[in-house]
This record gives sequence, C-alpha cells and structure tokens, in this order.
Amino acid sequence: MAELEGLEYGKSDFILLDEVTMEHFMENLKLRFEKGRIYTFIGEVVVSVNPYRQLDIYGKEAVEAYRGRELYENPPHLFAMADAAYKAMKMRAKDTCIVISGESGAGKTEASKYIMQYIAAITNPNQRAEVESVKNVLLKSNCVLEAFGNAKTNRNDNSSRFGKYMDINFNFNGDPTGGHINNYLLEKSRVVQQQEGERNFHSFYQLLRGGSQELIKSLFLEKNPALYVYTSEGAASITSNDDHSSHKAVLNALKVIGFTPNEIDSIYKILGTILHLGNLEFTSEGENVQVSAKEAAEHIAVLTSTKAADVSKALLFRTVATGGGEVINKGHSVQEASYGKDAFVKALYERLFSWIVSHINTVIEVKDYNPMLHGKNTVIGVLDIYGFEIFDNNSFEQFCINYCNEKLQQLFIELIMQQEQEEYNREGIPWQQIEYCNNQIIVDLVEEPHKGIISILEEACLGVGKVTDTMFLESMDSKLSQHPHYTSRKLCPTDKSMEYRRDFRIRHYAGDVTYSVEGILDKNKDPLFQDFKRLMYNSTDPVLRDMWPEGRLSITEVTKRPLTAATLFKNSIISLVDNLACKVPYYVRCIKPNEMKSPMLFDDARCQHQVAYLGLLENVRVRRAGFAYRQPYDRFLQRYKMTCEYTWPNHLMESDKEAVEAIVRQHGFSESVEYGHSKLFVRTPRSLFTLEQERNALI
Ligand code: ADP
Ligand code: MG
Repeated sequence: MAELEGLEYGKSDFILLDEVTMEHFMENLKLRFEKGRIYTFIGEVVVSVNPYRQLDIYGKEAVEAYRGRELYENPPHLFAMADAAYKAMKMRAKDTCIVISGESGAGKTEASKYIMQYIAAITNPNQRAEVESVKNVLLKSNCVLEAFGNAKTNRNDNSSRFGKYMDINFNFNGDPTGGHINNYLLEKSRVVQQQEGERNFHSFYQLLRGGSQELIKSLFLEKNPALYVYTSEGAASITSNDDHSSHKAVLNALKVIGFTPNEIDSIYKILGTILHLGNLEFTSEGENVQVSAKEAAEHIAVLTSTKAADVSKALLFRTVATGGGEVINKGHSVQEASYGKDAFVKALYERLFSWIVSHINTVIEVKDYNPMLHGKNTVIGVLDIYGFEIFDNNSFEQFCINYCNEKLQQLFIELIMQQEQEEYNREGIPWQQIEYCNNQIIVDLVEEPHKGIISILEEACLGVGKVTDTMFLESMDSKLSQHPHYTSRKLCPTDKSMEYRRDFRIRHYAGDVTYSVEGILDKNKDPLFQDFKRLMYNSTDPVLRDMWPEGRLSITEVTKRPLTAATLFKNSIISLVDNLACKVPYYVRCIKPNEMKSPMLFDDARCQHQVAYLGLLENVRVRRAGFAYRQPYDRFLQRYKMTCEYTWPNHLMESDKEAVEAIVRQHGFSESVEYGHSKLFVRTPRSLFTLEQERNALI
C-alpha cells in the first residue's frame, strides 16, 4: 500500500475506499487525475490514466526515489511496481512478468517504455561494456518495431498494430544479458487499405520523407507519399513524430542492432516493392488480363532480384495441378489478380516484420550462458498487447483480440487468487474462500476442441466444396445455441426476406459484442497463391529467400493444408499464457480519459466503462476480501511505534512481532488482524485510518 498522500489527492490505493462501489471508485480516480496524480494502486496493481501531457515524474530523481524502496514508501508510480518486479526477480530469483493492458491510446506502450527505461537505469552500476550493449540493443529495438509495427489511427497517433511480449534475461548480478521478443497478430490489412484519416505503417512515410535522394532513386520512387496508392490516404495527415528525423533514428537503430548494409537495403527494397505493387493495376482485353504499367513490373523485378517476366506471370496466372497430375497455367480474372496482389502485399509486409523481429532476437539471444558458472538466469517479461475492442463493426480481428483478453483476464484472476493463497500459506495464515467471477466458460466457448468457435471455424475452412460464411454461422447456431454466452441473431420476424442476420454475439466478461461473419472464412484461411511464394523463394536476394522457405516446394508437393489464422493465433496465445502463468505477475491497467487526446478532460462514462471491463472493482474486492493491508513487522513498527507507549522510542520485548501486538492491542483492533510469520495482516482498512490519523497528529 502506498504512503498516504495528503487527502486532497484522494486515496493512493483503492483498497482504502470507504466503500467499494463504482461511485466511490470513479470519484477517487477522477480527483487524482485532476490533481495530476495519474497512478493509483490496488495493492500491487497500478491503475494508470493517460495524462496526455508530459509530466516531470520520470527523471533521474524519480528513479532514485523509487530505487530499492517498498511499494508503500512512495506515491504510486510505475517505477514502484517495476522496482518490485525487479526485486522479486533479483532477491527471490523468481521469473516475473509485467502485464500491461488497456484499450488503444490508454498508454500501454508508453508505460512499457518507462518500465524498460527504469530497469535500464537501475542496472549495471559498473557500466560493464557488454551489459551496456545489451541494454542499448533492447532499447533500440523499440524504435525499429515502432517504425514497422505502429501507425497513426483515429484513436492514437502512434498506435501499435501488433501485440508484443518481451523477455529480458538477467544474470545473478541482476544485470541484463539478453532478451527475446514475441510478436502477435500484426494488422497487415493496413498495408493495402486504411480508414479515412488514418495512415499506413510509419515505415513508408519515414522512407518517402526521410530517405536520401540516392536511396529513393535506387528504389525508383519519388519523395512524395501522395503519389502512391498505399500512402495517399495518410499523406496529408501529420503525426507528432516527424517522419524525416525518425527515418534517421531508425536507420541508426538498425545499424546499432547489427543489421548489415545489405540487409538494410533489402528491407527498403521490400518497402519499395510494396509501393510499386500498390500502383499497379490490371486491365482486361477480352479474355486477356494485363498489368497496366509495364515499368512497375520491371521495377519490382529489380527490387526483388527476380525476372520481370516471372513477376508478371505470378501476378496474372496461377499454376494448378489437374487431377491427372498435369500442371497447367490458369489465367486470373481482373478481380482474382487484384485479390491475389493484395494478399501478396500483406504477406510481404508481415514476413518482413517477423523477419526483423527474429533478426533482433538472434542478436539479443543470451549466448554462452552457463548456469553452473553464472548462476540462475532469471527473466522479467513485459507484455504490451491490445486491449478489449468493441466497435460498431466487429469482425475476425476483434474476435481474436477479445479472445486474447478473455485469456488474460482469466490468468489475472487465477494468479491474483493464487498469489494471495501462497502468501497466506507462507505466513501460516488460514485461507479464506473468496467469491469471484470466473470467465472460464467464455474461454471454453471460443477455444474448446471440436465444440468451440475456433474449431467450428477451422472445420468450415477446411471443408470440401464451397462453404460460405452463412453456412459457418448456421453450424455455430446449431452447435452453440444452448450456450449461455452465445446468441445467434437469427431470424428477425418482421424481415420479409426471412434472411438470416449475418452475425453472432458473445457475452464477454467485459460486455456483449456482436461479430459479423462477413468475410470471416476468407480472413481465417488467409489464402496466398503458391506462385508468389515460389517467385520470392527464387529471388537471388538471400534476405527474401530466407523469408519464403516454403516456396521451395513444387506445385505437386504442396498438399498439406496449413493451420488457419485463428488456430495459429489460439496456439500462440495459449503458449503465451502458459509462459506468463509460471511467472510472478505485476499488472498495469491503463485507462484512456477521453477521445480527444485532451489533458484536461475526464469523460466519466468512458472511464467508468473501462473500469468495469478491466474488472477493477472486482480486483479491489478480492484484495479486501482477504486482508486489505499487510506489512512486515519491522516496517510497521518503524511507522507506528510513536503511537504506543510500550514501543516508543524503542520496545523492550522479545520480538518485533510482540511489539506490533502491543500496538494493535492498544488501538483495539485485535479482532481484525492475523499475525503471520513475518508480517501483520489487517483485514479492514479502517483500523489503519485510525493509526494513520494518530500518527499524523503526532508528527
Ligand atoms: P497504447 O499503447 O495504449 O495504444 P500509447 O502508449 O501509444 O497508447 O499512448 C498514446 C499517447 O498518449 C502517446 O503517444 C502519448 O502522447 C500519450 N501518453 C501515454 N502515456 C503517457 C504518459 N505517461 N505521459 C505522457 N503522455 C502519455
Ligand atoms: Mg501501443
């Protein structure tokens, strides 16, 4: 629990609320936000409200104030939690993780950067060169990932369009020795299309605005995003980051991380290829479909180190094996060709992104670590991942993201309960049952083998013959209609056409969400013509080749169907959650105060909605259901010994525990405490108020 700041700042820990109601919670959150106190604890969980202005609370002095201190010794701060995670990792040799959640624009990525900055600041006091270099690469990797994975959206100028989990490894000294990054579900559709007012990934504008004349010329481009279909929508909109200077920073970061000049060239060539593909159109003359601009295909061939004729062929034809084992070239229609091109562009960018991540991983991977020699290698993991999404139109992407949040919520509940239980065991205190809402049933609805939505979807995608989105919906309706968290929005009786509505609804723990099935099979199958894979694999550029290993297969060898997107995502989330489950968790719950990016405005309804779906009230209840407050005996004495004649200035008892007992007895709340082996547990915060008041009166 945090040091009680003056009451004018509200309660620094929500467990101190007079009553746990939404009204009291919101009142406290708002008051603190208006006073510039953006952080508040719930026990060890940090609740953060995006201030939308620079606060002077992250500097060197702040680092020093929080370094090595206990949570309750300072006002609530990310640094306090980062320090607790670091201490658990270093002193108790435990793997820990920091899970940051909240909706887009709530401040997750900024929080993750402050946490990394704090860890970098408190480690390697001796400035050892190899540790400094690891830290440098870890920090620089953010800059590269943001360039390629972030974009300006209507909700956030610098929105991460992928989920990120980063492990930082530490040696027995507590210094970073390396790390590993996992990325999740990059929003690749953004490369070919953006909503009104939004931009493509930063990387394109940085290249077009900041690239040297020489580089731009070598890519057959011009320095003007308005000229390219894929960047024209976002060409006019400005972000707070200057594309021109960002390009230099990213180039520098790539070099520091250890990308070779050839590899950096290849990265820019792929970006160039994508821009040229965007401007390429298809026309038909009778039966014949053609590429509109011949020189675009030639540029693409040069940039991808392939032949122009092969590029045109992959764009216009598809190789198919007939039943008799014969291989023929089948010409695309204009529609098929442009569909194929879009899929190719999305895959090019996604593979580029994954390749960059895995390249960074090979650089920061812990090498030559011998536990016999170097002691146990421990980890702090930082998870910055998309929060719950409820839009006017929800589709496959929101389905995946919300499923991921169900899993994380489940983990949160489980771990918080488990942690409580473990601490009670450690301290020899009897366990008390706590009632809580378990969302396992919703997780099962989505992921259960055979019966769950993802399985039904997979089945529909692998089915023979033409399975439509509506058929998939019907299949779900028939299998899940009894499920309490599933509603099919079937038949509307007044609708004369008697057509099915093409959507279904899931009752998530955070609220009801209606998903459209329009295009869902296609998004899940995510098909890409094999011809493109072979084209890329046959490139003489080793980087491209490396990204497309399955292009090695000939048409007759390609038989096995790959797993579909939802199943792959499910597998990656399950392994993420398994990985988090064996770590000591710390949580940051981020809240976005308004839609206007305003530092002044606290939109009550919007904030309350977020508090509700983040389950914060429940979190407070769990924390208070057991013991609201706990503190080691020596700390407790230090703080309150002045309030009792037997302990002031020093006690003469056998142990600190007995001295604490004397204080508790004198203040008459023996009923509401338990004495653990090393800590005092206090059930209700009220007893503590009394103590604090007396202490305040004396100092
Ligand atoms: P998310 O990752 O949750 O989508 P970001 O971390 O990108 O959100 O934050 C969105 C924007 O809000 C940032 O670009 C920054 O302008 C502002 N912001 C977020 N957190 C802070 C903070 N602690 N201090 C100042 N500004 C912040
Ligand atoms: Mg982000």
